[in-house]
Amino acid sequence: MAFTAPIGTEEERNTGQVWPGTWVDATPYMTRYALGYHTGADLNNNRPRFDADAHATVYSIGDGKVTYAQLVSKKYWGNLIVIDHGMVDGKPLFSRYGHIETMVIKRGDIVKAGQPIANVGNGEGLFPYHLHFDISTSTQLSTLPTYWPGNDRQGVKHHFVDPQAWLRSQHVAESLPADDKVSTDSHNTENSRPVDVPQRPVWYVTAAQGIAVHKSPSASSEKSGALPKGTKIFISENGVKNEELIWAQIVDGSFKDGWVTRGKANQSETYLSTNPPR
Ligand SMILES: [Zn+2]
Repeated sequence: MAFTAPIGTEEERNTGQVWPGTWVDATPYMTRYALGYHTGADLNNNRPRFDADAHATVYSIGDGKVTYAQLVSKKYWGNLIVIDHGMVDGKPLFSRYGHIETMVIKRGDIVKAGQPIANVGNGEGLFPYHLHFDISTSTQLSTLPTYWPGNDRQGVKHHFVDPQAWLRSQHVAESLPADDKVSTDSHNTENSRPVDVPQRPVWYVTAAQGIAVHKSPSASSEKSGALPKGTKIFISENGVKNEELIWAQIVDGSFKDGWVTRGKANQSETYLSTNPPR
């Protein structure tokens, strides 16, 4: 299963950065503060101005089922969403999104990775705008969606993981524009409709010096070829982060299965684009 950042523009999330663009985590996992030990991340974007994150779209980090979506209280949580992603790497996986404003999904809905689910709120005016986001690898949130361990440090460690490290370990995927996604809502079979055939986007090599094709997603791996600027290629939907670069696998043509770098993970350089080079 591919996972994506819960916030950021399409373009920012396409870079594979865990906290994309100018988003920052104001209260990293296990930070001790007024409410105890923090269970996850407080995602803020204050650039180019304070509260630039107000009403920003919140995305489901992965495919799953909404198990909770309602107003908890006007204090602290505000609106809260919990999504059950099933078993991942042999453990249950739940993601939780707090202080949100509008919710565009409801309990029982099946969601896809990168699907909009809500807008960033300010907890009914209690906080600056931000998204409280955490990841649980136990089933605690299925029965106690508002579970907050507070000063119970072991409770935090037992039920929650560092969401940044976890997402990074899953090679946060790029997401294609919604129009290019295959509709695979198998839970909706009575609603017969034509199968959407994905429009595979063409990517162009935009690096002036061209790029190398590698046998694995590592700059030190063996090279199998070189692609000059302007070459058209088809690459995998999922990006893989390695050595501060985002790698993608070629899915068609003479270099099929080879790996190329799309750009630096920190967005300082890009080597591929869906727009042809000038
Ligand atoms: Zn928080």
